[in-house]
Amino acid sequence: MAGEPQADCLFCKIIAKEIPATVVRESETTLAFRDINPQAPTHVLVIPKVHHPDAASLAAAEPQIAADVLREAGEIAFEEGVAESGYRIVFNTGSGAGQTVFHAHAHVLGGRGLNWPPG
Ligand code: IMP
Repeated sequence: MAGEPQADCLFCKIIAKEIPATVVRESETTLAFRDINPQAPTHVLVIPKVHHPDAASLAAAEPQIAADVLREAGEIAFEEGVAESGYRIVFNTGSGAGQTVFHAHAHVLGGRGLNWPPG
């Protein structure tokens, strides 16, 4: 069923604490942890505790939780000290755009110059 944990999902396993992660924030509906392969000095992933394959699916099914993900991303940027210099919230969507884990997640990237357009 939509939103239910998926046995083969890496991020569902992190939520269930079956796989360790460096958690930086947790709320009732979200978990945020450091990316294992950071692309910037600050690189944190914010995920909903419910399983949806990407951010758009999450927003369509559970818009309040999508908003929670965004609010947490902003809080993390502030706590990490990158809010003032500027940071990026990225939702890779689809394998052609670089999505490799099909559980909705926001990348929060900051602490270095971020080019535009992105690669
Ligand atoms: P995507 O490529 O947008 O789907 O992002 C998935 C992210 O998950 C990548 O940046 C990976 O480095 C990251 N990742 C994969 N496995 C782990 C893990 O076990 N802990 C933390 N981050 C992970």
